[in-house]
Formats: sequence, structure tokens, C-alpha cells
Amino acid sequence: MGFRASTTAPTRLTIDLAALSANYRLLADRSKPARCAAVVKANGYGLGVDAVAPCLYDTGCLIFFVAHLAEGIELRELLDDPAVGIFVFNGLLPGEEDLFRQHRLCPVLNDLGQIERCSAYGRANAPLAAALHLDTGMSRLGLPPQELDILAADPSRLDGVLLCFVMSHLACADTPNHPLNREQRRAFESALPRFPKTAASLAASSGIFLGPDYHFDLVRPGVALYGVAPIADAPNPMQQVITLEGKIIQIRDVDAPRTVGYGATHQFAGPSRVATVAAGYADGYLRSLSGQGTAFIDGIAVPLVGRVSMDLITLDITNAPQAKLGDFVELIGPHHDVDAVAREAGTIGYEILTALGRRYSRHYTGSGH
Ligand SMILES: *Cc1c(COP(=O)(O)O)cnc(C)c1O
Repeated sequence: MGFRASTTAPTRLTIDLAALSANYRLLADRSKPARCAAVVKANGYGLGVDAVAPCLYDTGCLIFFVAHLAEGIELRELLDDPAVGIFVFNGLLPGEEDLFRQHRLCPVLNDLGQIERCSAYGRANAPLAAALHLDTGMSRLGLPPQELDILAADPSRLDGVLLCFVMSHLACADTPNHPLNREQRRAFESALPRFPKTAASLAASSGIFLGPDYHFDLVRPGVALYGVAPIADAPNPMQQVITLEGKIIQIRDVDAPRTVGYGATHQFAGPSRVATVAAGYADGYLRSLSGQGTAFIDGIAVPLVGRVSMDLITLDITNAPQAKLGDFVELIGPHHDVDAVAREAGTIGYEILTALGRRYSRHYTGSGH
């Protein structure tokens, strides 16, 4: 903990807090009159929760979600305002009750066991604020329908629980025409009368763009805040938040039949110029980008050649003769956004962001207002 790459680090990660703030405002506007929370699990999707959460709070966000209890404890230290609600998706595991109380955190209760634990603690002490997660099709977390029936038959199971809202989570929201979206919404709507006067939450980033029928009282965006496109194969309405740049630490001229990198996977066809850049899979520049990735030099696309190694990549810069030792090349940024890199890596923007390493020099720009 507390490790900070020095400013001499050859890889630079810039996080634009003004863009983050603008993304929150866009999502909040889209969702009105529903309230807009922010999901900041996994260290703010890799961007640094200590910068991301205060920025979102300054922009007006008062409800936050994390996955782990430890993330909630860290977040409470960052946002000590009693008006800020912090909800923990993983819920209340045995022995954690006092920590939830002490740090003023709210569990998202996922099954009858968690409900019983919360209720017992709330009855023995003072009521504990919590949310309730109903499974409508993910089969991952949340009460399955048969547990919901048991709960509805005996509402006293929630004694001692201050129920803040009921939520569910969509499996296919980034694909607007997927039939499961409507099925899950209907299942959720049909469960709500069992919790009269309780607020409801269904949509994460993508769900917001399915329209007002999906907004209910509270939306829970994560990835779109950080610039990733919320809808597959559609223009991205979000601003890019991160820029990742690597420094050229060596340049060489090579010719056929030489190869580059481990496994000799790329052979030069003719005279070429190669730049070695100090970024690799240890920095979260995924190894699946081997032979697939693209970097940009002054807006010129230069292909990654050979394999990604732990600390280094190699670029064919024959088309960018102006590049020189010590220059920074764009790995993720205005010419090549997170989604484009994810496509090249055969993954999703979420994984690109959360894989971002700890060796970068991190720069936060924009005031966040
Ligand atoms: C991670 C998560 C979110 C946020 O999802 P995004 O797709 O990043 O917007 C919302 N709700 C739940 C239950 C989650 O696990």
C-alpha cells in the first residue's frame, strides 16, 4: 500500500477529473428524476478511488457502491460526510456486523442468511441500514425467487433492518434488443409490490440507456463514468477519462529476416524502424495485445509487433520517422480509446481499466467541478 511510482516512471497515466465529473452529470441528467449513485469498486475501476470518489462527491453524488467491505471502509475514510451512503454489494458475511456499524456502511443483502444475520444484529442493537438484492436472471448474487417467496410470507424476517431500497442487476443491458432485459424488468416490477414504499434500483451504466422504464428511483453506473461505451456498437456519449502513454527507451533499424521479441512471432519483411517502449503486461498492458495492439505517435498509428513482455513492448515506427528517444507514445487516449484497446485485446473496457498497473506516474487533471 502507498506505493507511488516516482515521476521518473517511463509510463504515464493521466486521469481527467473534469471528464469524470462531466460523465457523472450526463448520466444523472439522463436518469432524472431518479437519483444517480456511483460505483467505485476495485479502486474506482483502477483509476484511484482516493481521487475518483471525492471528485464524484464534489459533483453532487451522495450514494456510492463498492464490492468489498474493505473498500467500503477505505471509502468511508475518504468521504466522512454522514449524508453519504456507502453500500457494499457483497453483503454481510459472518462476523462483519460490527465493522458495518462502526464505519457506517450498508450491506446489500443477497440471501436469507444475510437477511437473518442483519436482522439479528439490528434487533439486538439498533437497526442497521441495508439494501436488498433480488436475483431476476443473473444467478450470481441476490435472493432467488423461492427465497423471495419465503421472505414475503414472513416480513418479520426484516425486523431490525432499515431497508433503503430493493435492487436487481441486468445481465444483457449493453445489448438493447436482448429479450432478457424486458424479462428481468418485468420480474423486478412484479416483485416490488412486496416492498411497498421502498425505493427501487435496476440500472447500471448500460441500463440507463435502455430508457426511463429501467430507471426506477436510483441508478448505479460504474464503467460509463470512467469513459467506457455503455452500449455495444453505438456511438459513445461518454468523455474519455484516461490517457496512457509510454516512453520510447530505445530505437533501432532492422531488416529482414530478423524477428522481434519472445517466441520470434514477428519477422520483418524489409527495412523497418523499431521503438522499444517501457510498458508491458505488468503494467496492465495485456499480453493478449501481442501482435494486435496499436499505438499513436502524433496521431499516426504504429502497430505493436511481436509479443507484449512484462515490462516492454515493441512498435514498428517506420511510418513515424519523427519519433525519437524519450518521446511518449499514446497507448490509450484521444486517438485510441479504452474500447478500441479492449477490442484489440479481445476483452472489454472494464478489464482494461481494472488491470491498470501501479507503476505509472499518475497525474490527475481537471478540478472535478
Ligand atoms: C459493478 C456493478 C454495477 C456497475 O456496473 P457498470 O456496468 O460498471 O455500470 C452496478 N450494479 C452491480 C450490482 C454491480 O456489480
